[in-house]
Amino acid sequence: MLGLIVLTISLLVWQHFGMERVMIFSSASGRAVETIDDRDEQGDSVASVTRRPDALVMDCELRKSLTYPYCLLVFPLSRSDAGVDMSEFDFITVDMSYEGPSTPEIGLTLWNFESGLSKVGDTRTHKVIEVQFEVPAQGTVHIPIKVLNIAPWWLKKMKVPMQRSDVRIDNVTGIVLGIGSGYATGHHRLVLRSLKFHGKLISQNRLLMMLVCGWILAALSWLAYSLLLYRAKLGTSTARLALLSQLNSALELEASELADRAFTDELTGALNRKGLRDALMNKWRKADTADDAMAVVFVDIDHFKSVNDTYGHDVGDQVLRAFAAAVQREIRASDKLVRWGGEEFLIVCLSCGAAEAQGLADKLRRAMHHQIWPCGMHLTASFGVTALGEGEDIGDTIKRADAALYQAKSEGRDCVKLA
Ligand code: GH3
Ligand code: MG
Ligand code: MG
Repeated sequence: MLGLIVLTISLLVWQHFGMERVMIFSSASGRAVETIDDRDEQGDSVASVTRRPDALVMDCELRKSLTYPYCLLVFPLSRSDAGVDMSEFDFITVDMSYEGPSTPEIGLTLWNFESGLSKVGDTRTHKVIEVQFEVPAQGTVHIPIKVLNIAPWWLKKMKVPMQRSDVRIDNVTGIVLGIGSGYATGHHRLVLRSLKFHGKLISQNRLLMMLVCGWILAALSWLAYSLLLYRAKLGTSTARLALLSQLNSALELEASELADRAFTDELTGALNRKGLRDALMNKWRKADTADDAMAVVFVDIDHFKSVNDTYGHDVGDQVLRAFAAAVQREIRASDKLVRWGGEEFLIVCLSCGAAEAQGLADKLRRAMHHQIWPCGMHLTASFGVTALGEGEDIGDTIKRADAALYQAKSEGRDCVKLA
């Protein structure tokens, strides 16, 4: 951006104060030069040119055998239909002097080839763009390009339609200095030291256009570049975000596994006491139930000690796992199985009255008989059932269920007692 600003300012300043383009016609410029006189049209004026080191000299013997006699000093630029575009020049300077009997007024003409009007090889058909100026005794003449005009006599002679009568110097085939009909007969001499066309390498309009295009291009490139950059950045952030979210879900999973482990009994998969507290305090109680009814079933495997004693602790563990699995199969999803300790379990049933819980306990008791136990054992369990009283603390309910269980044990086991 800074570079573009500096470039813009430098170009504008350079264009204004410098950037000179000069086209020189002089003896030293080495350009082709020739003369044309009216002898081509049966006149008898005679023109000739001499190349001196400091100047081009045209001598003209003007004789009035024609109405419009002339002597022309011509710089041919092109002999084809492709001339030189001189429309970007701003002004002309002419350094010359005149010797002769007339007022030194000279015609400067540019021939412009225009297709449809002009013919190749016939310079009389090339559009005549001209200006008349007085040759000063000393110094140079300064002629702005914009004062050049189309010659009315040429328009008339060529019968040019109005639409084609504009001033154009974009296809110039020749530059001409002439002495003509306004002059007295006799000898005239033009000493041309230099004829210069001045302009800028780049016109102001073209430069402004180029700068505007440059700025637009720079803005577009900048836009495209930022877009690509943002897209790349977005891609990286998205990838990073995806990674973070993966990491997050992995951590969440780990955390929930840890939480689950903290709330469940490792051996049986049933809830532990902490798990029960959590279930009661949080989601389970609040979310899943329509009413406050709750029943508790206390279960204890009968004579479990002898399982350990007979088959070993590992088989005892197997029994505990089989027992928990059997109970889980029988209870509803909303009921919670809690390992209270050793071979004692608690079943907490939501939205459940005492009678319903008693039914469940009896169903479980009978299921123990049909269960296939390790080592072909036959096992039974005892149950204490009670319901949560209104406004009662769950701890008191559990104690009551425990008491009922104690009663079941003391009444011979393999039975259900309701408190
Ligand atoms: P009761 O019919 O009166 O309930 O008699 P019981 O033998 O089942 O009761 P007791 O309380 O005397 O014995 C419970 C036994 O359970 C004692 C203990 O070694 C065993 N036990 C406790 N926890 C585990 C365990 O995680 N794994 C195994 N294998 N045994 C356990
Ligand atoms: Mg027991
Ligand atoms: Mg016990």
